[in-house]
Amino acid sequence: MIIAANLKTNLSRKQTSEYVAELELFIAQHSITQEVLVFPALSSLNENDGDVVIGAQNAYATVNGAFTGEIGLEHLEEFGIRTILIGHSERRHILGESQEELVVKFNYYKALGFKIVYCIGEPLEKREAGKEEMMRYIFSQYEGIDTSYENLVIAYEPVWAIGTGLTPTLQDIKEMHLDLKEKSSAPLLYGGSVKVTNAKEVLEIPNVDGILVGSAALYVEHFSTMIQYAQDISS
Ligand code: PEP
Repeated sequence: MIIAANLKTNLSRKQTSEYVAELELFIAQHSITQEVLVFPALSSLNENDGDVVIGAQNAYATVNGAFTGEIGLEHLEEFGIRTILIGHSERRHILGESQEELVVKFNYYKALGFKIVYCIGEPLEKREAGKEEMMRYIFSQYEGIDTSYENLVIAYEPVWAIGTGLTPTLQDIKEMHLDLKEKSSAPLLYGGSVKVTNAKEVLEIPNVDGILVGSAALYVEHFSTMIQYAQDISS
């Protein structure tokens, strides 16, 4: 399974390196064989030669250049970063990234062989508009995306569940993951208010290949517990 932490705009460089060190210790002490990904703030990116894979929450589709506020391939390569999060709802809805821009970014990092965790998910009004409308919206987020890319991981994250404490029912997640698996056989993560108290039951749902965790992952002991759940379920 893939257990991923999106640290968003949290944890300083020092706190992030302590966080990763604690995770490494946990992984070693508990013989964890699951894939653990951590996406720190860009200024906290660092090389890591242990089991935890460090990924970028964002990068521009360029080696370098005049793109104020962005980082490019050169800045990822400095730390050996080969994993990137693309299409997170906060980038789509708060920072205004369009599907066209995401496709450019996706194709750029795909051509370089990066592992891409590509996020999809519907806002509340689309869910409330009924299944057909909701699925049309979600499938529009696949437009231009190579769903058979070998290094692709998809994260289904209902926008209304991110950071809100609200989650779909287990049955809803089960049905959605079944539908989404028909679109792509890539590993499919669930994200949106996953925490220690619900992670186990989410991880047990068929076609859930892992979780992408935001707020609850900021507590390393909570994130470690979720990794342990995945390990127990997989063995
Ligand atoms: C996320 O940002 O990807 C996320 C799932 O956040 P949270 O767990 O806080 O809902």
